[in-house]
Amino acid sequence: MKKTLILIILSFLTANLFCQEGKISDYNIEKAVYYLASEELQGRLPSSKGDSLAVDYITNIFKQANLKPLFETFYQEVAFKDMESITMNSKQAGPKNKFSRNIVGVLEGSDSILKNEYIVIGAHVDHLGLGSMMGGSRSKETNKVHYGADDNASGVALMLDLLKKFSTSPIKTKRSIIFIAFACEEKGLIGSKKFVEELPFDSKQIVAMLNFDMVGKLNNNSIKVGGSRTSKESEKIIKKYAKKNNLKVTLSPSGIAPSDHASFYAKNITVFYVTTGADSTYHTQYDTPDKLNYEGMNSVSSLAYDIANDVANRKNKLRFRRVAETKNKGHMSDVKITLGIMPDVTGSTDGIKAENVSKGRPADRAGMLTGDIIIELNGKKITDIYSYMDALGTLKENQTYKVKIKREGKTKELKIKL
Ligand SMILES: [Zn+2]
Repeated sequence: MKKTLILIILSFLTANLFCQEGKISDYNIEKAVYYLASEELQGRLPSSKGDSLAVDYITNIFKQANLKPLFETFYQEVAFKDMESITMNSKQAGPKNKFSRNIVGVLEGSDSILKNEYIVIGAHVDHLGLGSMMGGSRSKETNKVHYGADDNASGVALMLDLLKKFSTSPIKTKRSIIFIAFACEEKGLIGSKKFVEELPFDSKQIVAMLNFDMVGKLNNNSIKVGGSRTSKESEKIIKKYAKKNNLKVTLSPSGIAPSDHASFYAKNITVFYVTTGADSTYHTQYDTPDKLNYEGMNSVSSLAYDIANDVANRKNKLRFRRVAETKNKGHMSDVKITLGIMPDVTGSTDGIKAENVSKGRPADRAGMLTGDIIIELNGKKITDIYSYMDALGTLKENQTYKVKIKREGKTKELKIKL
């Protein structure tokens, strides 16, 4: 009697282990954002409890959608150096090695030949935890949960919404689709770099990568799509579906930017970087779920679905092209040269506004002030964060460069030594 009871309990438990909670058809963007950006997840700092909970949540939805792991499991281990461990314990020789995970699943294409080509749909899941200057927080207070609702619970929620749309569609796409939640983006695109370095197939088999980073603040139906010139066909495709979805679109040609698609572009892969842009809550404790435009997210999802569906089914694959060659061919590590300013990434001005000039760093030494707007760097016009990143990519250490700025309406030239 006892044995039977144990068996019944055991089989009940295992059934629950393998049978996932919920159905993919019940998936909802708003619910996903509210969970991922909840108090419980504590800002999803890589390697934290909140990070693990986010990973479990996403894995569960991958299973509901019957995705197949791309690797042996859904996980790809991502190692990173915890720079903050040095300051917390000064006796320690170097930064501690810590680990997080990319979560990777595949929805197989229906065409016997084209299924060996892939569209990658990705978004980073990590954020800043309790925030710190070193970790990239812009907050003046310390130890506040940085919820990261827009950055980037919104992107993950959108990626999962596309997973729902594609996995429940009666017509499968011809090419296969890889869904991925990247780890450690905020620490320097570590998860996406790891992924492109360790592909189990030739990188040429990836036809395009769609990246969602901050897609929750659609305003005035205006969306930005970066990488619009990274294939011969991209611009036409983006414009076509923006019009269909009643969205006004601002195109940025380059594939270089401070987000995960840059890792793919560096491998000569066409990218679509979909974002609604940053605002004043960016990297602060005020980036909370109540401030997102969920109706807007449905429009963004619909646009992204149309683009991905087109690219996944078209007869010929997109023809990749590089936009502006930088000397170092777009290695993001080379873009890490900074002037020591916090650029205003909201795109509210023409040029890049220096929101914060760090004492003793190159910009400060050159006499740059908070509020100055950089309009030219090393002879290159600066119109937005993309052109700024492109220009940074051309700079070398220990060299002096001319920077044109606008201060109180007047143009000035500074000489900046790196
Ligand atoms: Zn982000």
